[in-house]
Amino acid sequence: MSMNRVAIIIGGASGIGWASAQALAADGCRIVLADRDADGAAARAAELGAPHTSAYADVTDEDSVQKLFETAGPVDIVLNCAGFSNVGLIADMPVEDFRSVVDVCLNGGFIVAKHAGRNLPEGGVLVSISSLNGRQPAAGMSAYCAAKAGLSMLTQVAALELGPRGIRVNAIAPGFVRTPLTEPAAMIPGVVEDYIDNTALGRAGTPEDIAGAVVFLCSPQASWLTGEVLDLNGGAHLKRYPDVLGHVMKLAQA
Ligand code: NAP
Repeated sequence: MSMNRVAIIIGGASGIGWASAQALAADGCRIVLADRDADGAAARAAELGAPHTSAYADVTDEDSVQKLFETAGPVDIVLNCAGFSNVGLIADMPVEDFRSVVDVCLNGGFIVAKHAGRNLPEGGVLVSISSLNGRQPAAGMSAYCAAKAGLSMLTQVAALELGPRGIRVNAIAPGFVRTPLTEPAAMIPGVVEDYIDNTALGRAGTPEDIAGAVVFLCSPQASWLTGEVLDLNGGAHLKRYPDVLGHVMKLAQA
């Protein structure tokens, strides 16, 4: 298979990023697998084998993102999967905790979009992984909800700014997907069941569910699609978000 497109995947060492790396590689892309977990990224790239490579990048550190693009060379696809969350009431949350989530999920999205915009050619594609929480609030998840709402809007602004240069910018907003990120939440009794009860399709997502949409958004089949934030959640956006905080409180009182 000829590898005629190069894809940088940030946050590619785990979960959705790793599943997307495998799917884009199978679709004929040469992958540059970047992560703040450099060892994890190197191990994953070795699993993919040559000509795929790995790199260190922390989306909160602009120098590292700039260096990533410089060393990767010409690139056609940028996928930003970096993100994490915390749980706590606004009234109790230290501002540093709020900032740390916004720094990765929103400011990091800005830094990646900035350098993707500088480096992608005409026909290039930027995809960010936002979240169902960008539109559906969850008590106890103020930083994550606010940051992902910002990332979804940033996606639309970037699509307007980069569209005239033929660069498409989209986001995927997944619902609950079982990954290392969500494992702690999944271990709290009631959380997964509550999510599933509030989907139309009656199941949580898999990283592969998201990877399939990534491949589509990066493909020529999506060549007229930009500025979209794709709800990908088994129909959960039609209902309500699980009461994560309520389940945490119940566990704390048990
Ligand atoms: P994951 O398994 O934890 O993978 C995320 C990867 O990104 C990890 O390798 C992580 O490294 C890396 N990362 C974190 N902060 C970074 C930074 N500052 N710079 C570079 N890399 C960084 O999580 P996931 O579930 O696949 O999540 C991927 C994306 O989907 C995130 O943006 C998340 O918010 C979003 N999302 C996930 C779900 C879900 O249910 N899983 C739902 C909606 C949206 P470390 O291991 O060192 O942290």
